[in-house]
Amino acid sequence: MIQENFNLRPYNTFGIEVFAKRFSAFASVAELKDLLDQRNNDPLLFLGGGSNILFTENFDGLVLRNELKGIEQIDENDSHVIIKSGAGEVWHDFVLFCVENNFGGVENLSLIPGSVGASPMQNIGAYGVEIKNVFVSLEALHIESGKIHSFDNLACEFGYRESVFKRKLKNQYVITSVTFKLTKQHTINSSYGAIETELEQMGITSPTIKNISDAVIAIRSSKLPNPAEIGNAGSFFKNPVVEVGVLKKIQEKHENIPNYPAPNGKVKLAAGWLIDQAGWKGKTFDTFGVHKLQALVLVNYSTAEGLDIYDLSTKIIADIKQKFGVELEREVNVH
Ligand code: FAD
Ligand code: NAP
Repeated sequence: MIQENFNLRPYNTFGIEVFAKRFSAFASVAELKDLLDQRNNDPLLFLGGGSNILFTENFDGLVLRNELKGIEQIDENDSHVIIKSGAGEVWHDFVLFCVENNFGGVENLSLIPGSVGASPMQNIGAYGVEIKNVFVSLEALHIESGKIHSFDNLACEFGYRESVFKRKLKNQYVITSVTFKLTKQHTINSSYGAIETELEQMGITSPTIKNISDAVIAIRSSKLPNPAEIGNAGSFFKNPVVEVGVLKKIQEKHENIPNYPAPNGKVKLAAGWLIDQAGWKGKTFDTFGVHKLQALVLVNYSTAEGLDIYDLSTKIIADIKQKFGVELEREVNVH
């Protein structure tokens, strides 16, 4: 059922109050097609968990929330299982399903908010794993023709927090299901960030995928604001990937700048470190600000407007450019 003048505040993790001209959820592809027939040329916006979106104004169109459920095993051999998930499943529930069934590959991606269907949009990643590492294919409804198309790993053109759906196919498809290839004998990936330290504190020397998942959940819970308590959309900016010359220039003043090798001889810098060094970490402007433990996360403490947060991000981008010569790019989708 389509509802009018619908408050989107509970449907975006920033907790921004904006209204959609029309809103409906869909739980089957038939319902989705039926809703698209009632579009009346309105602009469309598909929502999963609303955890990667900043609304800066009311949406003068039709917002459709994906609630396509169902997780099924569609194949297996001695070493792998193939699992297909409805796009409206909650990502972390899918991870827990895999961990409980001893299917490996997504445990490092525990506790990322949002839906399974949005996971390929920006090739979600954390602790050294991206979904492209376990991704087989997805099905998506082509809005213009109403046909379901299938995309394999190559066709998704995954990059660092990127995919073809954020670039040349933007707004053309709604993802309806995603299929993953998971391991039965696992490669444990514990080398990244604070995982090793957390495992030591847990007294674990030979970690299972459940131990990795628990460690990641513990680390994330300790340093990331819970959107149910403080509005946010995770990292607001991507980590910049720059030429070595840019790093060398910054190192003249900041010897200890963290940096990591990236494809094509480039280097990845930690955007959070740059923002912290520039003095923004913990800065609060009445109802919004930069989180005190994680400089990459912009927050809505109560009743901030989307434009407040957008303007803050613009100021940070300008300051980082001026101080370090690095252009930060927003990761969050701005509407
Ligand atoms: P939404 O915010 O609902 O949508 C995001 C975009 O995708 C929108 O443009 C929307 O129109 C589009 N979209 C959504 N579903 C579909 C669909 N089925 N078909 C077509 N288009 C669609 N991200 C990471 O990569 N790594 C992290 O570690 C991480 N940590 C986070 C921590 C916190 C506390 C928060 C709040 C966010 C974090 N994020 C992280 C960002 C976010 O969780 C992911 O990007 C997630 O995949 C977004 O899912 P969603 O369902 O909420 O997407
Ligand atoms: P962290 O461990 O404090 O590390 C800071 C940054 O350095 C990270 O952004 C990470 O880049 C990079 N890094 C650390 N160790 C690395 C290594 N061994 N090789 C390459 N790069 C390395 O980061 P954090 O902020 O606590 O986040 C932990 C993980 O969760 C990260 O992977 C981060 O991307 C993810 N996360 C993402 C979001 C989001 O919204 N996108 C929000 C919270 C956390 P990468 O970011 O490229 O991994």
